[in-house]
Amino acid sequence: MRLSRTFLPLLKETPKEAEIVSHRLMLRAGMIRQQSAGIYSWLPAGMRVLTNVANIVREEQNRAGAQEILMPTIQSADLWRESGRYDAYGAEMLRITDRHERDMLYGPTNEEMVTDIFRTHVRSYRAMPMNLYHIQWKFRDEVRPRFGVMRGREFLMKDAYSFDIDQAAAERAYHRMFVAYLRTFRRMGLTAIPMRADTGPIGGNLSHEFIILASTGESAVFCHKDMLDKPVPPADTDFMGDLAPIVDDWTSLYAATDEMHDEAAFAAIPKDKRVEARGIEIGHIFYFGTKYSAPMGAVVAGPDGTEVPVHMGSYGVGVSRLVGAIIEASHDDDGIIWPESVAPWQVGIVHMRPGDAACDEVVDRLERGLEASGRTVLVDDTDQRPGAKFAAMDLIGLPWQVIVGPRGVAAGEVELKNRATGERTTMGEAELMNRLA
Ligand code: ATP
Ligand code: MG
Ligand code: MG
Ligand code: MG
Repeated sequence: MRLSRTFLPLLKETPKEAEIVSHRLMLRAGMIRQQSAGIYSWLPAGMRVLTNVANIVREEQNRAGAQEILMPTIQSADLWRESGRYDAYGAEMLRITDRHERDMLYGPTNEEMVTDIFRTHVRSYRAMPMNLYHIQWKFRDEVRPRFGVMRGREFLMKDAYSFDIDQAAAERAYHRMFVAYLRTFRRMGLTAIPMRADTGPIGGNLSHEFIILASTGESAVFCHKDMLDKPVPPADTDFMGDLAPIVDDWTSLYAATDEMHDEAAFAAIPKDKRVEARGIEIGHIFYFGTKYSAPMGAVVAGPDGTEVPVHMGSYGVGVSRLVGAIIEASHDDDGIIWPESVAPWQVGIVHMRPGDAACDEVVDRLERGLEASGRTVLVDDTDQRPGAKFAAMDLIGLPWQVIVGPRGVAAGEVELKNRATGERTTMGEAELMNRLA
């Protein structure tokens, strides 16, 4: 892709309204535009990252055996009256009336709707285990939308819902999501710590929040230091096998958010291993048993023919929040440092002399070659000064930057810069293709 034809509205000034670095950088890098409080448009660079994040989430959900569906954003209030949550949910719910005076709402979550789908079609234990997920916009009328996409009112969430015949099977479903989450966040370059969490208004008794440590995080969190260096389960993990040993291992060390914090247990950790920090909640998993299936009549016949309400869990990932969270975890004074897995473009080519035939030829060949090998490439073919071009590449955070100028081209060389380390290396075109393609 050519920068001259890409809509990338970079801001020179640091926007005053942005309190935290990820919000400032997303605005400066032309990723988002605020439309109203907590409601954003995603511009091309932002949309590319959001899509990459969503795709990693999707791949890991699929790997864990969940099936993708898509439920609507607008829901009928009647479903929520069945569960009793229509009145209980309070002011965070955006309530809408249609032309027939029917009560509707913009979904803040989908337990009721997915339970309705399940009860309509599933009658036997043989259909289970079943886990249905979607990646869909949610609306919560947050009292204090802030920090850009981190606490929006409209935000993109992956929410999965598991259905099982009994608690033991539901716990296995919970374990699959637990392991999927460890893999999902690590693939985005994040160290997410599963922490014992309060189940909040959703209710139930088994719950973990996945938290990344960041000074701008909104929760106070406490954990054993070794939680930060644990290797995550590999891609070939058998999700139909017994995952309890992995989950037991991950939950054996202390890790809790402030609501669940136990001073005595924390004090028992050796002093140099105690981590007391701020954290950002990027995912949350719950087992809540028959909380929705019982009132909504989602029952199935077990092996002996007796009907029982299904045991459910729900599993959220803040897809749009993650875009901000990744920046909080990975930036420097010059801008964003994207992990390759989510970068809007993996390689930026700084074309130092557009119109110079020899340079044009090298740039064209590199762009085509890299794209053919599956790399995403942004060529800065504008007439900006070199300094401005380098600054823009660093601001938007492309992991690999290739500098092509007349002197280098004459010598058969280009320069490769690693955004994360700042290291620059001069090499021939073939060597560059070896490294990046
Ligand atoms: P928070 O404690 O931050 O308000 P929550 O506990 O209310 O989040 P959940 O109901 O657990 O959120 O939703 C699942 C995930 O959706 C959260 O872990 C978070 O990553 C994301 N999320 C929740 N609220 C927002 C929001 N207002 N903006 C962006 N992402 C959000
Ligand atoms: Mg909330
Ligand atoms: Mg929370
Ligand atoms: Mg939560």
